[in-house]
Amino acid sequence: FRRNPGESEFHQAVTEVFESLDPVVNKYPEYAEAGILSRMCEPERQIIFRVPWMDDQGQVHINRGFRVEFNSALGPYKGGLRFHPSVYLGTIKFLGFEQIFKNSLTGMPIGGAKGGSDFDPAGRSQNEVMRFCQSFMTELYRHIGEYTDVPAGDIGVGGREIGYLFGQYKRITNRYESGVLTGKGVSWGGSLVRPEATGYGAVIFTEQMLKTRGLSMDGQTVVVSGSGNVAINAIDKAQELGAKVVTASDSSGYVYDEAGIDVETLRQIKEVERGRISEYAVRRGSSVKFVPAGDGKVWDVDATVALPCATQNELNRDDAKHLINSGLVALAEGANMPCTADAIAAFQQAGVLFGPGKAANAGGVATSALEMQQNASRDAWSFEHTAERLHEIMTDIHDRCYETADEFGMPGNYVAGANIAGFVKVADAMMALGVV
Ligand code: NDP
Repeated sequence: FRRNPGESEFHQAVTEVFESLDPVVNKYPEYAEAGILSRMCEPERQIIFRVPWMDDQGQVHINRGFRVEFNSALGPYKGGLRFHPSVYLGTIKFLGFEQIFKNSLTGMPIGGAKGGSDFDPAGRSQNEVMRFCQSFMTELYRHIGEYTDVPAGDIGVGGREIGYLFGQYKRITNRYESGVLTGKGVSWGGSLVRPEATGYGAVIFTEQMLKTRGLSMDGQTVVVSGSGNVAINAIDKAQELGAKVVTASDSSGYVYDEAGIDVETLRQIKEVERGRISEYAVRRGSSVKFVPAGDGKVWDVDATVALPCATQNELNRDDAKHLINSGLVALAEGANMPCTADAIAAFQQAGVLFGPGKAANAGGVATSALEMQQNASRDAWSFEHTAERLHEIMTDIHDRCYETADEFGMPGNYVAGANIAGFVKVADAMMALGVV
């Protein structure tokens, strides 16, 4: 902690992983002897750079860009870019650290990284976003490549931003190197199912957890936070499987729709018009309640399944207690680290099925790896084929977490299962590659 002062989210992520590794480190002392744990905490490379850009009024702005290339033992660095005003080195390091284990769990040959900027896309025009992305890539391009580091999207970075980033990469390098970024549009090298993958994957993971208790998504009442890429597709999939999702949110508040969220209206407002969540209540009429941020949280609503899909530390111990008392059976983290450590402890003590983000939201990066495969073979797979692969991958991840937790004497503890299974694969590769 002294080496990385002030990076509280990074400390939180490392503590959560290391707390579950005791049994594996005791069983295999060679990992500690080879310094694997300390090496894993130190990124292989951290890049911080200036991103100057001009707004529509001709005023110059300076943002800070980051790329933390954490671990490449299993393959080229892979992980998203986040554009949000809250971004600082500690955010990118926590996300990059998590990404190592998540990518390992997918079974794909990808290392872990994360990047982004404290740029705030909210309220910016299309041209301003484009100029920012071009400036960001003008520095980033020298650090990435299909065999080196393959960024993707995250909060604030969707298909539009990936397009501008790829356009600038192509222009600077004079290479149509499709495999350098994932999350591309389908007509220019993207994969079908990638936009849906994280949200769909989180629900597939939840369905698998429920199955271990003889239950399914059918008939569940679900609370979802967020209304971005992950949240919307999680809502869509949950309802396809027969659940009723009653909430969606953004940083301005949440909506409660007793009849179940209408995904088409939500997509129109959020993906097409880039509007605020209160607009959903305006369009759907008086049966929908809008609760402004500060007056309550989605977690105040009773539910049997919860899918936090917005941001880190959005669900604390008090929220957990309310959900448990309302009869919560399962929770899967669609977002990265949305639950605080004490909330996780409360869920586990209460016997709630708890799917940690590094397992439950791994469907996005796994489908990104499928996009890389299609780019490498200059092929494009059908929606059905890719969706089937996603289903297989999520089921495998679930089973591996479940079996690993069992093997190490913590049955049903998906946090331990994910951390141990993710760790062992990376640690073994690091041992084989020597002290590098
Ligand atoms: P989007 O930018 O598409 O959506 C983010 C959503 O979360 C928005 O509704 C946003 O509201 C809300 N949100 C973001 N920050 C805050 C905040 N500080 N307080 C309240 N609400 C907030 O991002 P994604 O859906 O892609 O990502 C959501 C989460 O899922 C993140 O944790 C991300 O790391 C994780 N994730 C994403 C993957 C992907 O494939 N996209 C893959 C794996 C994990 P507002 O618009 O008002 O800010």
